[in-house]
Amino acid sequence: MLRIELVTGDITVQRVDAIVNAAYSSLLGGGGVDGAIHAAGGPEILAECRRLRATALPGGLPTGEAVATTAGRLHARWVIHTVGPVWPDEGAEADARRRLLAAAYRNSIGLAASLGAASVALPAVSAGVYGWPATDAARVALSTAADAPAPGLIRFVLFSPAMRDVFAEAAAALGIDEAAAD
Ligand code: ADP
Repeated sequence: MLRIELVTGDITVQRVDAIVNAAYSSLLGGGGVDGAIHAAGGPEILAECRRLRATALPGGLPTGEAVATTAGRLHARWVIHTVGPVWPDEGAEADARRRLLAAAYRNSIGLAASLGAASVALPAVSAGVYGWPATDAARVALSTAADAPAPGLIRFVLFSPAMRDVFAEAAAALGIDEAAAD
């Protein structure tokens, strides 16, 4: 059975099988949650990202797709890197971008499941520097997770209590039972 947890905290200290990273397309590190994951996980993660760029992904990771690397020193087996879309300035593009955000979640969770992960921690992809409004980000994240070919546990790790509240409201509105764990 799928269990969805919403917690406030730092994703880099989670003990789960797979930790999802909101990466940049370059896979070569950046700020926000990406910077935190590389800083806490150590250089092995970046080394594997560089190898991916030199082999399977010379042009970088396309938006909405996901790829796995070692988790380095993190308490996890894999980091799943995904690239969320930037929030569109033009309203007309919103639906297409929303599908890409859903794809980022679906592909991350699907890849974790196919690797054999029974638990996966995810941040609020695109809801930082990429500017996605929190309420909409939460709705896309939760509705996609609830439909996913699931590992047993999907834990959203929200960096602030305010973001956790937004996710909790979205879960209630979508009729998704969350197992509050914090
Ligand atoms: P994006 O470029 O996809 O918007 P960001 O890293 O800027 O990615 O932000 C995504 C979300 O991750 C934001 O809500 C941000 O507050 C959050 N975040 C930043 N650091 C951490 C962390 N260590 N653990 C969990 N969430 C984090």
